[in-house]
Order: sequence, then C-alpha cells, then structure tokens
Amino acid sequence: MTLWFIRGIRRGVVTTRYPARPDPSAASLPTPPAFRPWELTVQVADQLIAVCPGGALRRDGRVLVYDVGACTACGRCAAQAPHAVTASGEFELATTDRSALIKRIPILRETR
Ligand code: SF4
Repeated sequence: MTLWFIRGIRRGVVTTRYPARPDPSAASLPTPPAFRPWELTVQVADQLIAVCPGGALRRDGRVLVYDVGACTACGRCAAQAPHAVTASGEFELATTDRSALIKRIPILRETR
C-alpha cells in the first residue's frame, strides 16, 4: 500500500490507463455468458433458467431470453451446461438503451 502511494506521488498517476488502454487485469474478470444456440435444447434451457439466481434467463417457446442487465456473471449456467454456455469475455456492457441488454437466443437443437 505504501509503495503504491509513493509511486503514485512520484509519477502523478494513481489509476490505471483504462479506458485509453485495456487493463491487463480485465483478462481475469468473470464475464457474462455466451450461449451456443445449436447446443441448446428446451430441456437444457430450462436447466439454465433453474440455476440462474438473478432471474436473467427465461424461455419464450424455442427462444432463450437473456437479460444481460440482470446477469451477475456468476457462472452457474456455464457450470450447468458447459457444452452450451461459455464465458463471453466481454464486460463492457454499458448502454443508454435498456432494451439493448435483452438477447433472444434461438434454441436450435431438438434433443440431446
Ligand atoms: S452467469 Fe449467473 S446470473 Fe448470469 S445468466 Fe448465468 S446463471 Fe444467470
């Protein structure tokens, strides 16, 4: 702590260069999921909905509706179905349009 304080005074910079430059620590941040539509069945989608603690997932027929704004990037859905869900690697999700955070993912697989 003291070292960083002295370093900051000496350099005049106390924060990272983000957003002008990507912060290296961003690579280790948990990120919201990305879904593989061709690996999603209705059953898998319902399992994902059941494990999601934030209510970020719901199903509309053969469409998985994903509310990125309600997602906490907890990773439970990816742990439940790693063949169908992966980390997106994307964490810069700010928007002025709330509806832009609602994603509709088609459920393309019939059975598993
Ligand atoms: S990462 Fe967590 S909060 Fe986000 S959709 Fe998956 S289970 Fe829900």
